[in-house]
Amino acid sequence: MKVAIVTGASRGIGSAIAKALSENGYNLVLNYRASRDELEALAATLTTEVVLVQGDVGSFEESEAIISAAKTHFGRVDLLVNNAGIARDNLIMRMSEADFDAVNTTNLKGTFNCTKHVSRMMVKQRFGRIINISSVVGIFGNAGQANYAASKAGIIGFTKAIAKELAPRNITVNAIAPGFIETQMTDAISEEAKTASVDRIPLARFGKPEDIAKAVVFLASDDANYITGQVIQVDGGMTL
Ligand code: NDP
Repeated sequence: MKVAIVTGASRGIGSAIAKALSENGYNLVLNYRASRDELEALAATLTTEVVLVQGDVGSFEESEAIISAAKTHFGRVDLLVNNAGIARDNLIMRMSEADFDAVNTTNLKGTFNCTKHVSRMMVKQRFGRIINISSVVGIFGNAGQANYAASKAGIIGFTKAIAKELAPRNITVNAIAPGFIETQMTDAISEEAKTASVDRIPLARFGKPEDIAKAVVFLASDDANYITGQVIQVDGGMTL
């Protein structure tokens, strides 16, 4: 049975990815930082084997423990989904150094940390799939999100570099760039801004976490064997 690690799985997109992977037969290592109750509630609904691992992906040591749980419990890992992410929005004049660092530590360094630790196992197996959750903001930018956009653009460059490095070992590395997806992260946005956003989306609706989960399942499947180093936008046409 295949094994996947999903970071930041306790709610939103990560939780939908975990559910979809379980439905597709994956045993799972699910990471959370603080929200254990939410993740336990999700795990209780899944039919494959699930291991919950607390840890901050921004910490090199803690991310090693998250990744090694797959080896300890299941003996292998087929898929890593780097999903954990935070936003601390502000205009550059008001953005603190702490908010710049926090966002880049979780989003970009967290992706580096987990990828670095998993690469050793995947190289030995001569098989692996790595999927990084970026954002359309990392491609097009967004006023008030310089820290977040930088971290998500960084993930895209990182994805392409690692795709080239690991391709000879039969490991594919891709990114998904979601548009506006309805989760706790986007709950904070004002109704006025939400209306303005939906007006810019050709499909005239916000995305659901399941829309991202389906793209993950595809990229992880054998149908995507020949796809690597790509960024798939799942955004309802928002950026056309
Ligand atoms: P949520 O805020 O709903 O969930 C974020 C998840 O990440 C939570 O499970 C949280 O767990 C976890 N997390 C946060 N920091 C850490 C950390 N340091 N270590 C481990 N886990 C952590 O966000 P979304 O579901 O909306 O976002 C998921 C991903 O998708 C993020 O990378 C986000 O940037 C990206 N994305 C989202 C979009 C959207 O419109 N929603 C658009 C584009 C990209 P806990 O509560 O336990 O900390």
